Amino acid sequence: MDHLEQTDVDPRAVLEHLSRGARADRLVHVRTVPAREGRVVPWPTWCAPTVTAALHGEGIHTLWEHQGTVAELAHAGRHVVVATGTASGKSLGYLLPVLTALSEGTGAVTGRGATALYLAPTKALGADQEARLHTLAVPGVRVARLDGDTPGEERRWIREHAHYVLTNPDLLHHTLLPGHERWAPFLRALRYVVVDECHVYRGVFGAHVSAVLRRLLRVAARYGAEPTVILASATVAAPDELASALVGQEVTAVTADASPRRERVVGLWDPGRTDDGRRCGTATETADLLADLVGAGVQTVAFARSRIGVEHVAARAREALEARAASCSGSAAPQVAGYRGGYLPEERRALESSLRDRTVMGLAATSALELGIDIAGLDAVVIAGWPGTRASFWQQVGRAGRRGASSLAVLVASDDPLDSYLLQHPELVFDEPVENCVLDPENPYVLGPHLAAAAAELPLTPEDARWFGPGLAGLAEQLVVGGILRARPTGWYWARPDRASDHVALRGVGQTVQIVDGRSGRVLGTVDEARALSTVHEGAVYVHQGEPHVVTELDLDASVALVVAGDPGWSTRARSESTFVIRETSVVQPWGAATLASGRVEVTTQVTSFQRVLSDGTVIGTHPLDLPSRTLVTQAVWWTLPLEELALAGVGEAGVPGALHAAEHASIGMLPLLATCDRWDIGGVSTALHPDTGLPTVMVYDGYPGGAGFSRRAFTEAAEWLTATRDLIGSCGCTDGCPGCVQSPKCGNGNEPLDKRGAIAVLDHLLSERTVVVPTR
Ligand SMILES: [Zn+2]
Ligand SMILES: [Zn+2]
Repeated sequence: MDHLEQTDVDPRAVLEHLSRGARADRLVHVRTVPAREGRVVPWPTWCAPTVTAALHGEGIHTLWEHQGTVAELAHAGRHVVVATGTASGKSLGYLLPVLTALSEGTGAVTGRGATALYLAPTKALGADQEARLHTLAVPGVRVARLDGDTPGEERRWIREHAHYVLTNPDLLHHTLLPGHERWAPFLRALRYVVVDECHVYRGVFGAHVSAVLRRLLRVAARYGAEPTVILASATVAAPDELASALVGQEVTAVTADASPRRERVVGLWDPGRTDDGRRCGTATETADLLADLVGAGVQTVAFARSRIGVEHVAARAREALEARAASCSGSAAPQVAGYRGGYLPEERRALESSLRDRTVMGLAATSALELGIDIAGLDAVVIAGWPGTRASFWQQVGRAGRRGASSLAVLVASDDPLDSYLLQHPELVFDEPVENCVLDPENPYVLGPHLAAAAAELPLTPEDARWFGPGLAGLAEQLVVGGILRARPTGWYWARPDRASDHVALRGVGQTVQIVDGRSGRVLGTVDEARALSTVHEGAVYVHQGEPHVVTELDLDASVALVVAGDPGWSTRARSESTFVIRETSVVQPWGAATLASGRVEVTTQVTSFQRVLSDGTVIGTHPLDLPSRTLVTQAVWWTLPLEELALAGVGEAGVPGALHAAEHASIGMLPLLATCDRWDIGGVSTALHPDTGLPTVMVYDGYPGGAGFSRRAFTEAAEWLTATRDLIGSCGCTDGCPGCVQSPKCGNGNEPLDKRGAIAVLDHLLSERTVVVPTR
C-alpha cells in the first residue's frame, strides 16, 4: 500500500485500499455518518459565577442544547437521564447544576449547604472524574473519591467535609448505607445523585443497583433530603424506561444530541468463508487490516473481545509490519502496542502520550479501554466481532476522529448468528436503536436480600412500597418466615446478629464458587454455583484472562474450585441434560394453532460428562462426571406448536427434535438483538413432547434465579425476534448448520440433533399462524 499523508486520511480511499485483490468481496456495506452542526444554547443565568469562571478557564464556553436541557431540568429538581453519543459532553449537563449547588452551599453556616454523590461502575471512571474536577478546581468545592481502598482516616474527613463524593454502588451498599448514621450530615444536605454510564446497570446487576439506589433515596428521605437524580447513558432505546426502573421514579430523557460531529465512514466486513461455508477467523482478519492500516500511516486501534484476542492481533500485526519493513531494506517497522486493561495509571498515561506523538501507530485493545484511557484522535478503528450492543459499538466507533478530519471504522464480523444477521441488515446497526437495557427491579431473588439490608438500615414499613414496589409486604413476610426479619407493630426489623449487606453480592445471585490457584492460593475469580458444574468441574479447562488453567478439584461444600495454570492442548465442553417444569404461566398469546407464553419455570440441569476437544473441533475423549443436579427457578418465554401443524410444515415426527433444537439455538443467538444481554445470560430447552403443555415446546429462559427481564422482552417482541431468527437461518450460506446460524458454543448435547431446514420450516409455520389468525400488540 502507498503511504498516506498523516494529515490527509480519506476513509473511502483507505477502504478501497483494504478491499483490493483477494479481499474484493469482503466489504459488504459502507455507511457515511454525515458531519453535524452543533446547536448552541445560552449559558444558564443561574450558574454560579465561580463555576462559570472555572469552566471558562478550561476553555469551555459553549453549551450544546442537550447539555442545556439536562442542566435546566436538573436545576428545576426533575430526575433526568441524558443518552447521547460518545464525546457529546454529557458531563457538562450535570456539572452545571451540581457544582452550582455545591458552590452556593459553601456559604451556609456549616460550610456544607449542599452535597452530591457521583456513582461510576468502575474505579477508573471515578478516577477520571476526580482528575477532571481537580483541574476545574471550583473555589470552595471539596471533591473526594471514596472506594474500597480509601483509608479510614480519609473516610472520616470525607464524611465530615467533602461536598462532592465520587464512589460506586458497591461502596454505597457495603459501607455508606449500613453506616448511614455517621453520614447523617452529608445525607441531610444531599442535593444531587449522578449515576454515570447507567447503561451498564442491566440484567441482574441492574436489579441490584436499582435496589441500592432505592435504599439510598429512602435513607436520604429519612434525613429530610430529596436529591435529584441525574443519569448519563450511552445511546440505548428507551433510556427513560431504563432510568425509571433504576430509580423507581419518573425520569425525563434527553436524547437529541446537539454536539457537532465530524464525518464518519463505517464499513461492515465479512472475513470470507472457508470451504465448508464457515466464516474465517475474525482476529486474524482484524490483525491483517490493522497491519495494512498502520503500514499506510493510518493510526488505528483494533478492539478484540479477549486478552488472547488482543495478543493474537498485536503479535500478528507486528509480524506483518516487521516483515514488510525488513523487505524495505531495514527501515524501522511502525510500532503496535497491546492494551488489556488493568494497567497502572502511569502506564496508561505513557501509552496515551506515545499515541499522541504517534510513536505508537497501532493499538490492539480489549473493550476495557472503553473506560479508562483517553485515545481520542486516532484515524481509524477496527472492531473484531460485534461488541454485543449498539451502545458499545458506537462507543468504540467514536474512538476514532481527529480534529477536523473524517474518521474510519470497520466492523469485522465473527462466526456468530448475530454478526451474520447484522451483515445482512446494516439498517439495524445504523438506523435503529436496536436494543433496550432491561432489568427487573422486582426480581424477588434480588429484591428480597436488599429488603433485609434496608430493614437493617431503618425498620421497614408498608409505606416503603413507595420505594420498593407493591411486592414489598409479601417479600417481607417471606423473610420473616425465613427468620431473617422480625415483624413488630412498628414494622419489619433485621433479626440477625450479623450485617445484612454482607449477604448480598451486587455482581451476582446466589452461591458463588471461588476459583483458586492451587499453588499460590490466589483467588482468580468466581462463578455462579449453577455454572460451576459445567465450567469448573474436575478436569475442566478454565480460561482466566486468556490463560488456560486445569481444574484439579471442585469442592462444592467449600464452594471452591482448585486450578493449576497450564495449557493441556485441548479445551473441554460439558455435556448436560436439562428438563423444565412450568410453575406459573403469567401471559399467554395465541398465534393461531400455536401458543406463545411467558412465566415462571423450574429448569433442572444434570451435568453428565465432559469432552476434551482439540482446537479444530475434534473430540479426543468423553469422561463421565458424577455431580448433583441443579434447579433454577427463573422467568422464561416458550412457544408450542401441535405435531399435526409441524407435519403440515413438512416436519415429520422423526424430524421434530432436530428442528426445534435448531430453532431454539438460533433464537437464543438472536435475543441480544432485542435485549441487552449476551447468549451466555440465557438458556433454552426444546422438547418434542412436554408434560406440562402436552405439545412440542421450545423454551428460552433467563439464566439467573428469579429472572433478569430478557425473556419478558422476548415475549413482548416475539414477532420481531422470531422473524429475525428465521431470516438469519434462511440466509446463512452453510449447508447443514454452522456457528453462524444454528450451532451453539454452549450446547449441552454437543449440537445434536440439529436440523437447519426443519427449523426454517417450523419458524415459517409459526410466524404464518400469527399473521393469519390473531394480530399481536
Ligand atoms: Zn449457517
Ligand atoms: Zn443445544
